[in-house]
Amino acid sequence: MTGQAGAAGPAAAELRAQLTALLPGVRAFAIPMRAKFRGITVREGALIQGPAGWGEFSPFAEYGPRECARWLACALEAACAGWPAPARDRVGVNVTVPAVGPDRAREIVAGSGCRTAKVKVAEPGQPDREDIARVEAVRDAIGRDGRVRVDANGGWSVEHAARMLRALAPFGLEYAEQPCASLAELAELRRLVEVPLAADESIRKAEDPLAVRAAGAADIVVLKAQPLGGVRAALRVAEACGLPVVVSSAVESSVGLAAGVALAAALPELPYDCGLATMSLLTGDVTAEPLAAEHGMLPARPAVPDPERLSAWEADPAPWAARMLAAAGFLGAGS
Ligand SMILES: [Mg+2]
Repeated sequence: MTGQAGAAGPAAAELRAQLTALLPGVRAFAIPMRAKFRGITVREGALIQGPAGWGEFSPFAEYGPRECARWLACALEAACAGWPAPARDRVGVNVTVPAVGPDRAREIVAGSGCRTAKVKVAEPGQPDREDIARVEAVRDAIGRDGRVRVDANGGWSVEHAARMLRALAPFGLEYAEQPCASLAELAELRRLVEVPLAADESIRKAEDPLAVRAAGAADIVVLKAQPLGGVRAALRVAEACGLPVVVSSAVESSVGLAAGVALAAALPELPYDCGLATMSLLTGDVTAEPLAAEHGMLPARPAVPDPERLSAWEADPAPWAARMLAAAGFLGAGS
């Protein structure tokens, strides 16, 4: 972020020194996913151990070293500094309902124990009536007191989103996540519909939430710990932005998820359930006690890899160590 460049110099140098010392112990994992996500079927990443614990570094394959530096800062914070004191010892999470039929949607919600459901909509090739039937089934399954939000992943035009959000209004939406792709579209839509809008894909780096707010594009921001450079960095972003925050994961192993839970636990206010119940998307975990939701809650605690589980998913750490070193050149360089 601007205004911190002076402080970033020595801090970045110290982080690079810490990384060099810890690099020989880096481990890597590759865990198959239960369903395709962002076009990938295997979630890959690296784990690094430091004096404060374990950190995860799992930027997606297409990210270059500059972008990866923020993910690395998150891993080094977990390994070397630990996280700020939590304001709560557990956080509420939503169940995610993919673009399935209404019967399956009902089952997923009923079996989740969550009081909030996030329903995927605007799936390419699916007619609108399937979205409406899915949201109706989810509202029915979760009951009147449950909360239902939809996530279009930027898939609608302004006109399409306005039409669909009006059609879905009778089911009582908590908010609509990234209904359209661009800030200008979100801002236009926001003037047309009553339901609050949340920005997710619009936020990739520290200054994005400020741009969202300045554009009047959303009522809520979805923040993730790794892409924003760690728990403290994300807390600063949340404070500067001033909008309510929903903490979400980047579909990490439990080690990476723990950073998201630490962020959610440390926020002064947490009015919405978080998108951190993503352990169920992976076929396994590197820990013996995965951060999986129970009764719609996740505990705020560190996650420690289990040697046996980790070895079951172990991958070559050399490419990851190389990615970390390349990213380290951009630590503190701003986003
Ligand atoms: Mg989303």
